Formats: sequence, structure tokens, C-alpha cells
Amino acid sequence: MAHVLVIEDDPGIRGAVIRALTARGHAVDSSTNGLDGLQTILTGDPDVVILDLGLPDVPGERLLGMIRAVSQVPIIVATARDDEGLIVKLLDAGADDYLVKPYSPEQLEARLRAVLRRAGATAEAAPQPALRVGGLEVDPSRRTAVVDGTPLDLTRLEFDVLAYLAANPGRVVSRKELLREVWQRTDSARTVDVHLSWLRRKLGDDLEDPRFVHVHRGVGVLLEDRDSPDEKG
Ligand code: CA
Repeated sequence: MAHVLVIEDDPGIRGAVIRALTARGHAVDSSTNGLDGLQTILTGDPDVVILDLGLPDVPGERLLGMIRAVSQVPIIVATARDDEGLIVKLLDAGADDYLVKPYSPEQLEARLRAVLRRAGATAEAAPQPALRVGGLEVDPSRRTAVVDGTPLDLTRLEFDVLAYLAANPGRVVSRKELLREVWQRTDSARTVDVHLSWLRRKLGDDLEDPRFVHVHRGVGVLLEDRDSPDEKG
């Protein structure tokens, strides 16, 4: 069970979400607008926030940035628009996951559990050894990644993707597997492609002749360092 803050202006949806969460044993706070929601995050210290993007006072995307400026609380955005471009932008802006309205209580609970599991895994994980793939070093405990001694500036999701690939070096990992293991969902493979393309840019990979992330069209991606003498042959 978790302490959930629901920021939603539609009384019908707000009531339904509160009932669904309460019935599953969660403690629920709610706000009907963005600024009150922000205040409640600061004073109420929720475990997770469900944020409606269409709020009357502050656009949801803007509020997301305001929350991220003051808090690392996991955020699930709820959007009426099934717009992958927007969803990817929101994930990059610091949302942890999303729900497309109308969503069922089961979908809500599944997203909630996935986000809390990821947040808990980050907070409570026992120290894990750093993973090395040629000139790339990924430290899951400190959540840092370094290429040839230069630290990479990665978003939370980019780091999670890279850490998963680094834990499975030299093996082709499918987009489906990445979705299941990193995002803990099964839809929207396009999200994986977009994050992979950002990750490749940050790794300095030449798309024609990449050093680290090798895309096997229709199969998946493989992480290995083609510049490292250990990896040849
Ligand atoms: Ca709304």
C-alpha cells in the first residue's frame, strides 16, 4: 500500500480514482488544481503522484517541471490524448510513467506498482558492482555511466535502459524485453526507439557505424564496445 496524491480537476474521475485506490488499501490525498497539488507534495510527502495533464490553473506539462524542480516523487501522468510524441516528451521531462484516459482500476494499480517497484529498487538496492562493457562503465548503485572516463548526462529512463543492456552484454535484447523489464509495460515499442536514439546520441555512437549500441533490425539491440580489444573476435 502506498500514500498516493491524485491531482485531477474532474470530480467524476477524481472520485472514481480515489475509490479505486482506497479499495485497494492505499492512503489517498487529492488536489483539484496544480498549485494546490504542488503544495500537497511539499507538505504531504506522498509516495507517488497521479497527475492529470489538463488542469485549470497550470498546464500539466508545466506543472511537471515545477514538481521536478522541488521533488523526486514518482509521477504518473494521466493524459486524454494518446499522443506518443507528447508522452515521450513527458517521460523526458521527468514523468515516470503514464496512463491514457479512460483507464481501468487494474491499469492504474499496475502502473502504480511498477513505478513504486522501480523507486524502491533505486532507494533500497544493496550496493551492486559496476558493469563494464569495454570503455563503458555503468554503476547501478550510484546511477552513473562513464565512457572512456567521461561521465554521461542521462535521464532516469536512459540510465535504466543502458544499465539493463550493460547487465546483458553481447546479447541481442528485444524491444519487447526492454519494455517489459525497464518500463514494465507491454505497449508502445516506439517509446523504446526514441529513448534508444537519445541514448545512442549521448554515447557518441555514429548511427552508420556505432561503437556501443548495435541495432539488429526486427530483432532488438545489442550492447558491446567494438573499439575494445576484449570484445573483438
Ligand atoms: Ca482535467
